[in-house]
Amino acid sequence: MLKKYNKYQYNFRTNNCRDWNDPQYRKWKKLTHQRDGYCCQWPGCPMKNRLVAHHIKKWEDYPEVRFELWNGITLCYKHHNQIKGQEEYYEEMFLRMTMK
Ligand SMILES: [Zn+2]
Repeated sequence: MLKKYNKYQYNFRTNNCRDWNDPQYRKWKKLTHQRDGYCCQWPGCPMKNRLVAHHIKKWEDYPEVRFELWNGITLCYKHHNQIKGQEEYYEEMFLRMTMK
């Protein structure tokens, strides 16, 4: 029997779900971490593990820049969680860091 939320899941998958194994995505993530020296870029944060390649301009809203290197920044899981829901607020600050 079909569960209620299947339609949502289906839409999510086909429209916006990130394919973590997409070679293009993996390459972008690797280059982002390489450029950032495999270290969280949050000012003063020394974390070098549990890193995330954060999309400065949101994955959902800006599909055309998903794999631009300037649109990625390395953050640790803690800082990535911290900016959740406030991505737009931090856009300018991060872009200033990656576009220099
Ligand atoms: Zn951090």
